[in-house]
Amino acid sequence: MHILGLHHVTAIAADAQKNIDFYTGGLGLRLVKLTVNFDDPGSYHLYYGDELGRPGSIVTFFVWPGAVAGRIGTSQVTTIAFSVPPRSLDYWSHRVADIGIDVVGPFERMGEQVLGFNDPDGLQLELIEPDRHDPREPWIDGTIPPEHAIRGLHSVTISQEHYEQSVPLLTDILGFRRAGSHENRFRYEAAAGGAGTIGDVLSMPGTLPGVLGTGTVHHVAWRIADERQQAAWRDRLNQASLGVTPVRDRLYFRSIYFREPGSVLFEIATDQPGFTADEPRDHLGTELKLPPWLEPLRAQLQRTLPPVELPAARRAWRQGAGHGR
Ligand code: ZN
Repeated sequence: MHILGLHHVTAIAADAQKNIDFYTGGLGLRLVKLTVNFDDPGSYHLYYGDELGRPGSIVTFFVWPGAVAGRIGTSQVTTIAFSVPPRSLDYWSHRVADIGIDVVGPFERMGEQVLGFNDPDGLQLELIEPDRHDPREPWIDGTIPPEHAIRGLHSVTISQEHYEQSVPLLTDILGFRRAGSHENRFRYEAAAGGAGTIGDVLSMPGTLPGVLGTGTVHHVAWRIADERQQAAWRDRLNQASLGVTPVRDRLYFRSIYFREPGSVLFEIATDQPGFTADEPRDHLGTELKLPPWLEPLRAQLQRTLPPVELPAARRAWRQGAGHGR
């Protein structure tokens, strides 16, 4: 039983179109699924990643129009970091500044070059040139030259009032190992190792807890191979009295959820079946997809969800090959 690394990170956004424009146009990720929040079908759930939205490349957003901004603080994932190739950050610092967003860095931290900035909702992001080769293939049909394009997730930063709160769960139960520290940052790496396997715990004594809202992370999901392993993980977490949920069918993966001892919402998600479960690879993210149990609501949802212009349609429109939607 091994955690294979990060599966996805889910955060809250206020405006679907701004979110799509930033993550596809600005950062060059692929919109791999346009769907609704299965637990709250009146709102969008947007998934971005590499060509297929492979586990470890995915960030997702619940879109809550009109919601108040959250507060970044403890008991929260406070930063999502993406991996970019060596010598890319010069390109990226200009790129991000050109779209009107302030950048911090590049600076060195734990032997890696880091560029920090916020997304349009204030969500804290980093681009990191990792200290080891990242073999993952980027989405090459996006807006970023392939030699600079995002390879996938690098890490998440989990802020805790006392970092000891989260560590025993990470090491003794989830099987992470200590992989260094820098000032108040303590790095843990999933047993599988390799790209996209890092959780940094930031010790922030005297800091207020975060409040969920736009610009904050809702939860982080860790990868496991299959449903058989998930059942075993569920037993293990139950034995540790962590209050894990039943298995939920997320259509593109199966999930269980629990709060780690520092109150951050963790998910454990299967690699299968992936985003081609309901549309072919070439068409990922090009239309609203609903799970079978929500199809009866399609007409109603399409009337109430705010219309969005999608990247593929926009590109076709620019080329004069069709009309924007
Ligand atoms: Zn999730």
